[in-house]
Amino acid sequence: MKRILLLTTGGTIASRLTDEGLAPGLDGAALTHHLGGLPDSYCLTVRDILHLDSSNIQPEEWRLIARHVFDARNDFDGIVVSHGTDTMAYTASVLSYMVRNIPIPVVLTGAQLPIEHPLTDGLDNLRTAFAMAASGWGGVFLAFNRRVMLGCRAVKTHTTAFGAFDSVNWPLAAEVSGAGLIVREDAIPPADGPCVLRGKLCEQVFLIKLTPGLDPEIFDMLLRMHYRGVVIEAFGAGGLHFIRRNLIEKLHAAAQAGMTVVVCSQCLYESSNFSLYQAGQKALAEGVVQGWDMTTEAAVTKLMWALGQTQRLDEVRELFRLPRGRGAGQPCAAGPVRRPRTCAEGLRAPLRRRKKGRKDDETFFSGKNEKKVTIYYK
Ligand code: ASP
Repeated sequence: MKRILLLTTGGTIASRLTDEGLAPGLDGAALTHHLGGLPDSYCLTVRDILHLDSSNIQPEEWRLIARHVFDARNDFDGIVVSHGTDTMAYTASVLSYMVRNIPIPVVLTGAQLPIEHPLTDGLDNLRTAFAMAASGWGGVFLAFNRRVMLGCRAVKTHTTAFGAFDSVNWPLAAEVSGAGLIVREDAIPPADGPCVLRGKLCEQVFLIKLTPGLDPEIFDMLLRMHYRGVVIEAFGAGGLHFIRRNLIEKLHAAAQAGMTVVVCSQCLYESSNFSLYQAGQKALAEGVVQGWDMTTEAAVTKLMWALGQTQRLDEVRELFRLPRGRGAGQPCAAGPVRRPRTCAEGLRAPLRRRKKGRKDDETFFSGKNEKKVTIYYK
C-alpha cells in the first residue's frame, strides 16, 4: 500500500460558512472522512499545518510547507497538499524551486466548493491528487478537475468554474479518464540532481503589469522602497514604451542600482521574445532577464527564490536559464522555445524505458510508434 502524506493548509475545500463568509474550519480528519473508503486504499498520514484562506499564504507559509515536504520525502511515496485555489499556482511554482528534484510526487489540490457542500468538486480533486501522489513520478504538481499539471505551469484562470486551472505552455502531466489516471511521461521533466531544500526567498520582488503610458518613475519609488527585483509583464511578444515616458532609461538606472528585472508577456499563452522588436531589444540591451514562456506566477516566485540564493545578476540569469529538470520550473526557458504539443504530437513522442521496481502499474503501448502511457491502479 502506498504511503501518502496529506498536508492540509485550509482553503475553500476545508471551509464552512461563518458570519463573515466562508472561512477554513475543517481539519484533515474531516476532509478524509468525506472521502469514504478511499483512505483505506492508502497508508494515509494527515498533518494539519495551516488553517488559512490562501490569500493569507505568503513567503513565511511557503517556507513552512516546503520544510514539511522536504522532511517527509524519504518517509512517504507521495504527498498531497490541500490548499486554497486563489494562490495555489504561486505555492505550486515556488515549491518547484524550493524542493527542486523532489523524488516523490507532491500534489497540490483544493476545491471551488467546500467538501461539505453536496455538489463539491473537492472529492474528485482529492481522489485525483491521491492517485497522482501514488504514481511514483517525482515533482511538484497541481491536480484539479481530473487533470494534473506541472506546478510551475499552472495558472488559475476561472473564479468559479470547476476547471479553474490551466496548464500554460506545457502539456498536462496526467489526466483521469475511463482508463484511469493516464500519466504523460514526456510531459514530466526528469530530475537533474539530488533534492535539496533551498528555502531562502527574497520578498522584495514587485510585479508590474504594463499599461500604456505607465509613469517610469514607478522605478524610483521601487528603489526607494528597497525592492531588489521586478517582473514586468510587457506588451505582446515583448515591448515597452520609450517615447515621452522612457521606461528604458529607468531600466538602466535600475540595473545600476543592482535591481534585477525579468521581462515576460502579459499574454497568457505562448512565449515572449524581446529580440523581435526594437522596443524589446532596447530592454535587452539594459540587461533584463527574459522570462520567455513562464507564467507570471512562476516568474515572480522564481525571481524571489533566485534572489534568495544569490545577489549576482549573472547567477540569477543562470538560474533562470536552468535546463529542464524536475521542479527546475521552466522546462523551456532557455534555448529554443518549445511550443505546447498537441495531443496528436504527444502520441508520437519517443518511447521511454519503464522505471524499475514499480509492480502495481501496467504499461500500455497503444500501437506502433505510439506514446507509452502508464495506468495506475489504486
Ligand atoms: N479564497 C479561497 C482560498 O484561496 C478560494 C479557494 O480555495 O477556492 O483559500
